[in-house]
Amino acid sequence: MENNTDKNRSNTYDCIIIGGGASGLMLAAGLECRGLIRGLIIEKTSRPGSKLLMSGGGRCNITHGGSIKEFINAYGDDAGLRLRKCLYRHSNTELTGWLEETGVGLADESGQPVYSYDLSEAGRIFPASMRSADVLNAFLRAAKSNGWELRTGKTVCGIEAGEEDAENAWTVLTDDGCSYYSRCAVIATGGITYPETGSDGSMFGILRGSGIGINGPRPALAPINVKDYPYEELSGISIPDVTVTAFASDAAYTCKGKAARMNGDLLFTHRGFSGPVILNISRYAEPEQLIRIKYNKEFNELPRRMRKILEDRSRGSSGDIRTSKLAGLLDADDFTVESVDRRGMVTAGGICLECIDMATMQIKPGLYAVGEAVNADGITGGYNLQMCWSTAMTAADSIREKIY
Ligand SMILES: Cc1cc2nc3c(=O)[nH]c(=O)nc-3n(C[C@H](O)[C@H](O)[C@H](O)COP(=O)(O)OP(=O)(O)OC[C@H]3O[C@@H](n4cnc5c(N)ncnc54)[C@H](O)[C@@H]3O)c2cc1C
Repeated sequence: MENNTDKNRSNTYDCIIIGGGASGLMLAAGLECRGLIRGLIIEKTSRPGSKLLMSGGGRCNITHGGSIKEFINAYGDDAGLRLRKCLYRHSNTELTGWLEETGVGLADESGQPVYSYDLSEAGRIFPASMRSADVLNAFLRAAKSNGWELRTGKTVCGIEAGEEDAENAWTVLTDDGCSYYSRCAVIATGGITYPETGSDGSMFGILRGSGIGINGPRPALAPINVKDYPYEELSGISIPDVTVTAFASDAAYTCKGKAARMNGDLLFTHRGFSGPVILNISRYAEPEQLIRIKYNKEFNELPRRMRKILEDRSRGSSGDIRTSKLAGLLDADDFTVESVDRRGMVTAGGICLECIDMATMQIKPGLYAVGEAVNADGITGGYNLQMCWSTAMTAADSIREKIY
């Protein structure tokens, strides 16, 4: 086992990226070392990019088409506005262009080719092979050819600040007793969901201990489980174009201070609801508070088994169906949120945006935060990986300026 606590050439770097997930690898792919600087990626697991591999059901919805201007609303509350500069500077056109240059062709959801010079009609964008491994390999190859060293199976358990802008401004400690020294350190440790991929949120505790503001992380893009759920037998059935409203008592769960309302397809599960509209609204679903479902359908348009359940729920004490109650359920089927499923695709919350200079992604001079570790999360459709790219490339610009 290494036990490297003395400063020497082998443990002194210009930049250390903590976390070899999507955003850490993107940063390394976009920042050349080439003998000019020494760069190290420290990854907790034996396999970098595990979450990227799972993304899009293994197909990797890497970004979205349309103008980058339209991305701003995809990140809830004020995060989109704060991310604006990063997104404009390092847009979906840049990300798709980079992938094309590295040999990863792109396609839309139906498999039609997509080109970076015209993303106007593209919608969700995937690698043409529909294999997330091709995207991961492109980032890994570029990081390697850029001269980054990758150490896996090492968990960062502390970060200490030294003298500002000094060669050893940041000391990064790992759980095997090693210390690494660097001018810059980047937090790219992801969120709290799917901890088996390595992103278990443990870095948030370390940062909190160093006085960095963390907004309580919670799962998002996740199914919502509700109390007194009557639709268990409908599990697996979905209904298109439903309106869901999430009410909240805590300001952290509101959308611009108001109840969040969204439209889309809803899927019944064993314990509650899922489907695009639920995943997207889940960041606003506060336990013990109400979600309201409006089906936007005539009773006869609903699945037969669901009609039976709705009729049973509308019966009066004498067993007769109360039509006003039935109509009420179609318009406002209310449930108390029991929990938001832990297996969310992303994390809402993280390093507070007010602590970050969004023009450089610096928390403190030489300490950066990128990707899902930051308190910004998008709806489904490739917005989260785009956010990883835009924040990582913004940090790369600043690190390049600082070090070269
Ligand atoms: C099932 C699923 C499907 C998804 N599909 C899509 C999709 O199609 N499109 C999209 O845009 N987004 C999708 N996402 C979200 C997207 O994958 C994430 O937003 C993205 O991977 C976040 O990248 P990241 O680098 O910030 O964090 P991660 O990818 O989570 O990487 C963080 C890395 O840091 C490492 N790490 C953590 N703590 C430490 C430590 N203390 N020391 C060293 N290393 C550490 C972890 O091991 C991990 O490798 C999906 C997510 C899931 C779970």
